[in-house]
Amino acid sequence: MNVVVVGLARSGIAACKLALAQGARVTGLDLRPGLDPIPGVALELGPHRRETLLAADLIVVSPGIPTSQPDLAAARDAGVPILGEIGFAARSLTAPMVGITGTNGKSTVTWFTGQLLRAAGMRTFVGGNLGDPLCNALLDPAPWDAVVVEVSSYQLENAGDFHPRAGVVLNLTPDHLARHGTLDAYGLAKLQLFRHMTGRDLAVLPTGDDRLARLAGVGPGTRAWLGGNPGVTRAGSRVEVRVPALGLVADFDLAGFRVPGDHNRDNAATAALLALAMGAPPKAIAQALPLLEPLAHRMEIVLDADGIRWINDSKATNVDATRVGLAGLGQPAVVLLGGEAKGAGFDVLAPLLRDQRAVICFGGSGAAIARELASVGVPSTTAPWLEDAVLLARSFARDGDAVLLSPGCASFDQFTDFEHRGRVFRALVQGSV
Ligand code: ADP
Repeated sequence: MNVVVVGLARSGIAACKLALAQGARVTGLDLRPGLDPIPGVALELGPHRRETLLAADLIVVSPGIPTSQPDLAAARDAGVPILGEIGFAARSLTAPMVGITGTNGKSTVTWFTGQLLRAAGMRTFVGGNLGDPLCNALLDPAPWDAVVVEVSSYQLENAGDFHPRAGVVLNLTPDHLARHGTLDAYGLAKLQLFRHMTGRDLAVLPTGDDRLARLAGVGPGTRAWLGGNPGVTRAGSRVEVRVPALGLVADFDLAGFRVPGDHNRDNAATAALLALAMGAPPKAIAQALPLLEPLAHRMEIVLDADGIRWINDSKATNVDATRVGLAGLGQPAVVLLGGEAKGAGFDVLAPLLRDQRAVICFGGSGAAIARELASVGVPSTTAPWLEDAVLLARSFARDGDAVLLSPGCASFDQFTDFEHRGRVFRALVQGSV
């Protein structure tokens, strides 16, 4: 078997290793010339040779590369199967899987679900778009009781036979439209998650999203709803799971849950539903639920001092993530917005920003965001860069306030990625730079 892996970032390297472990001859392609060798893999760096792709028995393509790219399209037209890394791993994975997708909240729900399953004593792989590539699950010799996979819309485009026992599309808001074209196309890519399900599997959608409901139609899988019945509902700290068709009926209590934001309570409720569907005993879920730990850079409390709570939500890289973070905060805040905006749209935040202690707009798009907010009657202060914004925030914040970095923008104007931005924020706040 001759496997060609296109795109040698983390998931591509994992796919190479899995293909080698399965006895394939492996060729790795990447446009970047200076990559390190991968033992056992023939590398072709620089512009692709179409013949290499045409000679493959299987092409594994990185999620960053559209299969409409001419050389890949030529190979596909010549009958060469093309899979993404998730689809490639899914061919060999036998453990039950949970798939989690959506515009926002994927990593958090993935992480929460993994924690619940592990707390129930199940040997659980957590990965996919978050952390470890899925192929690594197969490179571990011991068997998994459960595999929790965060899947992006790009990964779902070439997911082959990927068949989760439980899957959720958390939400759908405009993002990544440059690649998908329309919101319908983006939604349909996400709904590929349910494609191979049967009635024994759980297919979860949010209530109140007419577009997703329309695109999903009746669809395969047993349908359940976030915020509906059958499905999972939350009132304050009470969580009710009701999917009787699959025997999933349980009540939980979130009292003592420490992660800020109402959306994170919802994320915990979603994780409880998924963990239950994967066979975790309700008692184990009930015990672990209030103790869930957040991921770094998602509503992460980085300092609680002098009556001020500093929260790092650097992962809020689009306006809707910021909206959700602000809506469930529950205390007045100095809000830090900015970075490299993905277009306009900050005006939708106006009702949430109007009553805050202060709004500070920083970074490459800071001035443009400030102008947009001014046009809808929200005053703000601009600061050149994040460090200036933190200094200003210190002077604005009063006892009982939060300072929330929830930028609503990409980070590339000043940082390598959202994690870098979050680390710098944490260091600035904790006074170490
Ligand atoms: P993703 O992996 O989809 O980017 P994350 O869990 O990393 O999602 O969260 C990204 C941002 O999305 C967070 O910073 C938060 O502001 C927002 N968010 C988290 N959960 C939800 C949710 N259930 N609905 C909407 N937005 C959310």
